Amino acid sequence: MKIMVSVKRVVDYNVKVRVRADGSGVETGNVKMSMNPFDEIAVEEAVRLKEAGVASEIVAVSCGLQACQETLRTALAIGADRAILVETDVELQPLAVAKLLKALCEKESPQLVIMGKQAIDDDANQTGQMLSALLGWPQATFASKIRIEKGSEKAEVTREVDGGLETLAVRLPAVVTTDLRLNEPRYVTLPNIMKAKKKTLETLKPEALGVDVAPRLSTLKVVEPPKRKAGIKVADAAALVDKLRNDAKVI
Ligand code: AMP
Repeated sequence: MKIMVSVKRVVDYNVKVRVRADGSGVETGNVKMSMNPFDEIAVEEAVRLKEAGVASEIVAVSCGLQACQETLRTALAIGADRAILVETDVELQPLAVAKLLKALCEKESPQLVIMGKQAIDDDANQTGQMLSALLGWPQATFASKIRIEKGSEKAEVTREVDGGLETLAVRLPAVVTTDLRLNEPRYVTLPNIMKAKKKTLETLKPEALGVDVAPRLSTLKVVEPPKRKAGIKVADAAALVDKLRNDAKVI
């Protein structure tokens, strides 16, 4: 079974993001960039399925600037077999990425696509759902467990839903998106980083896949959240109760 995993290059989750002075977006110059954390979980899950003998090949895919090669090398170091970069300078929106991934699915015919449930930069939570709709494949989103028997034509996916867990069976090929508790990604070791350098990384342009990636919507402005006011100290429990009763507002 071939698995395709999508990986997005985003501002590292430890970085305190700053809004550009002109309000056109978030500052990305001189900022540490990393693989979207949900995508790291997706790559880890694919590697575990390969280690369990369920998957035979893992293809990692990223869409964006040439610098996404770095993100793909990380995916290769975690254990993906080869990588594809769809290179473009255009700022990609979820629908454009979903169309690019659809074209790659038609080219590569994976039986399973594992993606993050959302990218931590745009927080869109759209691309996986759009891809499954475009392909007409089943989807199981927010997976906290994936079970596939060797050679099986279905996957059992446990999802985190409000108030509990839901387990679905999806026919393959399918799209699955990862939630935080699916697994804990391994540390990338130096020997694996070295091995990753020798793995194949193919680069394509969106035109070669016949996809128009022009943005369909424009960002009007981005602003910082309002600064939090400093807290206060109260003298005793009675003063606290008084503040809660009289000053605290229900939002
Ligand atoms: P989003 O819908 O933007 O929240 O992203 C959901 C998931 O789609 C991410 O976790 C990635 O797996 C995938 N994705 C989104 N944008 C890209 C991209 N430019 N390149 C590769 N994968 C992407």
